Amino acid sequence: MAADTGFSDVPAEAWYAEAAVWCRDHGMMSGTSGNTFSPSAVMTRAMLAAVLYRAAGSPAVTGNADFSDVPADAYYNRAVNWASANRIISGYGSRLFGSNAPVTREQAAAILWRYDGSPAAERGTDFADESSIASYAGQAVDWVRAEGIISGVDGNRFVPRGQATRAQVAVILHRYLTRGTAVTPPADNAQSEDTASGISSQDSVSRSTDFDLEKGTVTLNNGIEMPILGIGTYTLSSEQAENSVYWALRDGYRLIDTARIYGNEEGVGRGIRRAIDEGLVTRGEIFVTTKMWTSDYENGAAAIDASLRRLGLDYIDLMILHHSQPGSDVGAYQAMEQAVSEGKLRSIGLSNYYTAADFDRLVNAAAIPPALLQNETHPHYQSTAMKEHLKQYGTVLESWYPLGGRGHTQELFNDSTISSIAAAHGKTPAQVLLRWHLQAGNIAIPGSSSEAHIQENFEIFDFALTDAEMQRIAAMDQNRRHSSY
Ligand code: NAD
Repeated sequence: MAADTGFSDVPAEAWYAEAAVWCRDHGMMSGTSGNTFSPSAVMTRAMLAAVLYRAAGSPAVTGNADFSDVPADAYYNRAVNWASANRIISGYGSRLFGSNAPVTREQAAAILWRYDGSPAAERGTDFADESSIASYAGQAVDWVRAEGIISGVDGNRFVPRGQATRAQVAVILHRYLTRGTAVTPPADNAQSEDTASGISSQDSVSRSTDFDLEKGTVTLNNGIEMPILGIGTYTLSSEQAENSVYWALRDGYRLIDTARIYGNEEGVGRGIRRAIDEGLVTRGEIFVTTKMWTSDYENGAAAIDASLRRLGLDYIDLMILHHSQPGSDVGAYQAMEQAVSEGKLRSIGLSNYYTAADFDRLVNAAAIPPALLQNETHPHYQSTAMKEHLKQYGTVLESWYPLGGRGHTQELFNDSTISSIAAAHGKTPAQVLLRWHLQAGNIAIPGSSSEAHIQENFEIFDFALTDAEMQRIAAMDQNRRHSSY
């Protein structure tokens, strides 16, 4: 291994260093800019098409698959046409290729398997999560495991919907294209090697959902940076929302949460424009979330356009489905996926999915894994099991009712644990609760129409709760929601 990989973000001793250098030297994966490789960036479908196309020697391409999300001048245009003509990566239907959708582990297996000509493979991998591997990927997963190309992660799980990073794809390709040479890991070693070397989706996921408490941001599973503290606007009139949003942006907030059912998207839009007009922020610096209401699920595309119009924006940073609604939420989610490819939405996610099974029902029908799940979460209902479940998708949790919710805040403010921790830090109970959310890995969006409270709620980056204090608050969990909403 060369002492210097030539990439400033690929240390020579990294588990993927040899693969990254090999892929670069064989003209398959170049850096992302200048001398960086961005090993933990998630691999998108378009990127994987381009990489495999290069691996195949960039053959001439005839015809055009006419995907609506593959611009004629995109660097991946020829690669996508080649991949789809050769049935290596197909589109989703509705003229959608899913260019920006992250590649999951089972998709990576299936794509590589098809690239190899779909060789016969013996069934029976016996992964603990075998039943959740999609039927199209079953044989491919058996094959990649037998070939030592992709193996399971800890606990003998394949984690089919875990996302592949650029470093993982480099290692997968390196293994695949150098099979039979000395560097090929023996299949029976592959699992321990994967775990030790970090080719486990758990690892990539814990990186992608780590909060940066200095910057106040988290990188979502689609590579987009999102602020971790924002202003909520539930129950605010349009006029109140306009002021709250304006004050919040002035005080340093960059995240705003609204919903079509709150009836205040217009006010939120006005507050944003006021702050932009006064030069306090630029559009690119702020992150606007809205939600699609259940009665709009049958007409998702129109609902997205209507929210854009009311907000007065030409894109929304994050749109989420407001509630689980089996029967119509999958169609609504697909409308949001389509809007991502059209540039109307940058990220998409869910709200109010309270069981792993319900969350998976939606995710299993989705091409783009949810970036975020917004659920009621506070010290009495800490969402611990759900957060653990979300890790495999790199989905981050956002807390609504972070202070306990209107009508319940005093219960938490007056709690002896919270008030004694607040006194120890010279902070208010609200500030302790919000700081707890961030340190626990929950994005928080406290709601308020009070100028003073809005300011107070943002002053939580100048102190930290100790491990012991975090544990005392963890002990307050009663698995009890304050709302039945
Ligand atoms: P919250 O827990 O943020 O509590 C809000 C209450 O706390 C209000 O009564 C407010 O006046 C008070 N408050 C705020 N800051 C305070 C302070 N520093 N000191 C004393 N009191 C303070 O509840 P919420 O606003 O309902 O929830 C937060 C946000 O989450 C909402 O505004 C909304 O954007 C979102 N939300 C989403 C859903 C959903 O279904 N997805 C449901 C409810 C709320």
